[in-house]
Amino acid sequence: MARTGRLRAMKIRAAVLEEFGQPLVVQEVDLAEPEAGEVLVRLEACGVCHTDLYTASGADPTGYAPCVLGHEGAGVVEKIGVGVTMVKPGDHVITLFAPECGQCIHCRSSRTNRCIAIREQQGRGYLPDGTARLSRGGEELRHFMGTSTFAEYTVMPEIALAKVSPEAPLDGCAPFACGLSTGIGAALYTAQVERGSTVAVFGCGLVGLGAVIGARLAGAERIIAIDLAENRLKDALHHGATETRVGGPDTVDWLKEQTDGYGIDYTFEATGNVNVMRQAVESAREAWGLATMCGVAGKGELLEVIPRFLITGRRVTGSSFGGVKGRTQVPLLVDHWLNGDIDVEALLSHRITLDEVNHGFELMEQQDGIRSVITFGGS
Ligand SMILES: [Zn+2]
Ligand SMILES: [Zn+2]
Repeated sequence: MARTGRLRAMKIRAAVLEEFGQPLVVQEVDLAEPEAGEVLVRLEACGVCHTDLYTASGADPTGYAPCVLGHEGAGVVEKIGVGVTMVKPGDHVITLFAPECGQCIHCRSSRTNRCIAIREQQGRGYLPDGTARLSRGGEELRHFMGTSTFAEYTVMPEIALAKVSPEAPLDGCAPFACGLSTGIGAALYTAQVERGSTVAVFGCGLVGLGAVIGARLAGAERIIAIDLAENRLKDALHHGATETRVGGPDTVDWLKEQTDGYGIDYTFEATGNVNVMRQAVESAREAWGLATMCGVAGKGELLEVIPRFLITGRRVTGSSFGGVKGRTQVPLLVDHWLNGDIDVEALLSHRITLDEVNHGFELMEQQDGIRSVITFGGS
């Protein structure tokens, strides 16, 4: 028996990455009871994110298999392990691949959300005590991003769950677990967009639209959305962009023309394309422009920056999960939705079943819709 065998395990259905470059295989696996500091969550919804596809493809050098993918989950606490105080059964929660212990050197600083409490084990596919709760026929199955939410249930550390209002529909909560919070947070927390400023967002997928939403919430005066697809630019207008532009080699010049030759106060890059990143840097305003990189570049790719752009006052920063401190700030973002300030429903383009998870990947590759969400059809 595996190490997980000493505890009672339940049978759950989950989407397993068996082999890189192959479709996920939905099957029955075993999930052991939560141990100390851990929580059993019944998933109600999970978004299909580009990072899942990136890992499944084998392109991610840190990836491992077999494991249960998925990290954009929302559900209900079913059971808690010994010593858990942050959540209780019945609580509605959003899963956090970026936990918030509240005590490590990074959690104690207001400058970052990069909690280091469980990083090492999480990166290897294990819960904080170095073991897995997932198994199959007595053989260990690793967790993914500390979440593994392409599954009916998951076991996670309590520090990696954000308790949210029970009034928020859980399918709409799912994108707050990754893409949507990443974009909104980049504007609100990383860049801290000031009221009345100018903003340009490169790429209008879920992260880019989140940055548009965040800039609007921050009171930006002009929000210019840039994408290659007209339908995404229309989406951007719906979520708060004031102007749109089809991207191209002339984008930097055009943005400067729009701003008396100076450039944009805050630019956000959400495509992962290093040439677009360079445009985001070069279109940032002389003297104080801030370019925030949200997209994930391909392995080994470099961002070229001409040093003079920095000497003359532009700044470049990166943003992971939008700089959002998950347990304390994700619930605040959900409250914006409940207050009517975010149209989450418009972001949920496809609702699919767990068995259709590979179709969710296809939709993403075809850039069909903004977010596909797996719903588990619970109560
Ligand atoms: Zn993601
Ligand atoms: Zn921490």
